[in-house]
Amino acid sequence: PHDSTAIIGAGIAGLACGQALHSADQPVRLFDKGRAPGGRMSSRRLPAAVVDHGAQFFSVRDSAFRRRVRDWQDAGHVATWPDTLWQVDEKGWQRHRDDVERFIGTPSMSAVPRRLAEGLDIVTATRIERLASRDDGWWLLDQHQQQHGPFARVVIAIPTPQAAALLVDHEPALTEACEAVIQRPCWTAWACFDAPLPSLPGVDDDWQAVRLDPGQDRAPAADPLRFVTRNDHKPGRHEQGESLSLLARLEWSEANLALDAEAVARQLLEAFHECLPKGVTLPEPSDLGAHLWRYAQPNVFAAGEAVNLDYRRSSTGLALCGDGWRGPRVEDAWLSGHHLGEALAADTP
Ligand code: FAD
Repeated sequence: PHDSTAIIGAGIAGLACGQALHSADQPVRLFDKGRAPGGRMSSRRLPAAVVDHGAQFFSVRDSAFRRRVRDWQDAGHVATWPDTLWQVDEKGWQRHRDDVERFIGTPSMSAVPRRLAEGLDIVTATRIERLASRDDGWWLLDQHQQQHGPFARVVIAIPTPQAAALLVDHEPALTEACEAVIQRPCWTAWACFDAPLPSLPGVDDDWQAVRLDPGQDRAPAADPLRFVTRNDHKPGRHEQGESLSLLARLEWSEANLALDAEAVARQLLEAFHECLPKGVTLPEPSDLGAHLWRYAQPNVFAAGEAVNLDYRRSSTGLALCGDGWRGPRVEDAWLSGHHLGEALAADTP
């Protein structure tokens, strides 16, 4: 149809764009290579626990996003978390205090994309590998050489390096814009335990999340770990056994792309061991693994009011949204997709 839109990528940006079009009664179909929508907000279901291995929580600054998050909160899909944030530096474990309100999906981070996916037509397990422009509109070609179309417009809501590969035959200017946004890699590990973690002297037994500051005398690439959360201390997950999510420092991830996942998980857990108070040892994990996000975090930051265009469009019916066009957070990705969806809805006959 003349007003149909395809969205490639059902992460938070693609979903927000899809919802904006859907609420304006415009036909939209999303495609995602994953088994479920969510992208970098997804959770992994292990035998012993559900672990978030992308975003651990998100903050809210924009008023439109705040209204949406309140709706999710009222419906029980998100809760504020963590209640307390710890920080470890040379002086040891200390409470980190600020007035940022942080949220998490309940009972797992993927509750947020699941909520956003409601009512949308989403084709999963389908990787779009090529776009073709024909007389009747845009066609998408997937990994099985199956064709999907025609669509009047195509929104590309995937990390910029992957978007560039789809655009290169069609839009040199947009391809170049994508190539200018670097998306840095990040290793994330999990460790499950049969027993509760030992008490840490001077730290609440129910500590939830800790940020690790790099040692002053060490290069960031030599310091593996930046953030650790306890999944069983997240809202709605108290029934599951103890498990940690361990996020690597970006510099360390860049320097260790070729390591195998098991070695990464061991090193991140060992790095956590090293920052525990003296004499405290962790039990042996019952399950340990790691995932490499090749495109985890864009090197762009929203410059407050100066940012007025957090998506890109061509005159040929192609458009781009995602965190790479605004900043490295869940909120940035949602705003980018939402704003693009509103703009597309406004100019369709
Ligand atoms: P994505 O979530 O990457 O969505 C893109 C989607 O496109 C994916 O679902 C993917 O499967 C799909 N896709 C890709 N290529 C194709 C293709 N060719 N065909 C079909 N589908 C395709 N943000 C915060 O606010 N707070 C945090 O604490 C935080 N921590 C993070 C920790 C980690 C380890 C990572 C990786 C990210 C973190 N972020 C955090 C960032 C946040 O998760 C992202 O900014 C946000 O989720 C990006 O959403 P997106 O929709 O732009 O992209």
